Amino acid sequence: MKSLEDRMSAANTILAPYAVPHEGTLGRVTLEAPDSTRYPFQRDRDRIVYTKETRRLMGKTQVFVSGESNDHNRTRLTHTAEVVIISRNIARALGLNEDLVECIALAHDLGHPPFGHAGEDALNDWMKDNGSSFEHNKQSLRIVEVLTKHPPLQQGLNPNREVLEGMMKHRTPHDNPEDTIPRNPSLEALVVNIADEIAYTGHDVDDGLREGILKMEDLNQIELIQCAQARKTHASLNSAIVDALVSDLYEETDRQIQEQNIHTLDDVYERSDNPVRFSEQMRKKLDELRHYLKENMYLHADVLKGTEHGKHIVTTLCKHYKNNPNEQILTLQEANGGDLIEAIKDHVAGMTDDYALATFSALPQQQEGA
Ligand code: MG
Repeated sequence: MKSLEDRMSAANTILAPYAVPHEGTLGRVTLEAPDSTRYPFQRDRDRIVYTKETRRLMGKTQVFVSGESNDHNRTRLTHTAEVVIISRNIARALGLNEDLVECIALAHDLGHPPFGHAGEDALNDWMKDNGSSFEHNKQSLRIVEVLTKHPPLQQGLNPNREVLEGMMKHRTPHDNPEDTIPRNPSLEALVVNIADEIAYTGHDVDDGLREGILKMEDLNQIELIQCAQARKTHASLNSAIVDALVSDLYEETDRQIQEQNIHTLDDVYERSDNPVRFSEQMRKKLDELRHYLKENMYLHADVLKGTEHGKHIVTTLCKHYKNNPNEQILTLQEANGGDLIEAIKDHVAGMTDDYALATFSALPQQQEGA
């Protein structure tokens, strides 16, 4: 077998000159000896996948609250898997670092609370009442940097800084992370950002149709759906939507990289505009579909019914724990700086839907009311 160095330098030769190289350039926050067989980002990926937080994504709502829907709908975990494959496909086609996009994609939703965006809203409202705020991107970063343990490290996974920065800069219309880093994001970070939007647009249409909330005859009025339908070779509407979006993305991103004179990784970090994007026409089509999904699916009474109950559960749990912190919360509080509100947030955000529901049902006030 060739040495790790030889394999890495051979692998670097097939990357574009503006890709993040396999050995990274920013290093880890805490210095570690290199692994004997895996590239640095492969090692980061493995650490992320082995966390309990990754396994809990299986029990967290994407759009449809579990228990009320069938087993074929996306969970946070299968959504994450789809973001990973779309990110890797785009990265490979553009000559970018597939291992790095995989890390960012795998970690991007680790901090998502139970009950999807409703759970996130509820936690944010409660945190605001307590002088702070909640946003799942920041929580994902907190998990990777602080909360999850990778022995013998004292805290966090200590990934390469490119992974942390990619998570900070991972941004969708749902997200609003603070800009606290000096560089522009890598193209790899931008790829995951847009792959997330591609993934949830495609799979939400798929899940919405299966649930009977969306109707094909209505969707057929939307330009992006017509565009996708014209690509007859695809097995499903989801994959046709993904393909229509990704094909446009390749062309436009290629054009942007040339127009913006991006030749090196330094050019990427110093550039002023986001080159990983759809053409204007495709952006308009996608916005039309996003708007349609918002009005007709995310705000649909059946979807809201499930998520409103989730909101109530999250808020009730937070309020209860403020007066009656449990053992796990006290441990979190002691381990991470002594802030009770933050420890409650960390505990509740980490719950799966089912765990939150069971904990809520076992609260004394629920028992009295029963
Ligand atoms: Mg996501």
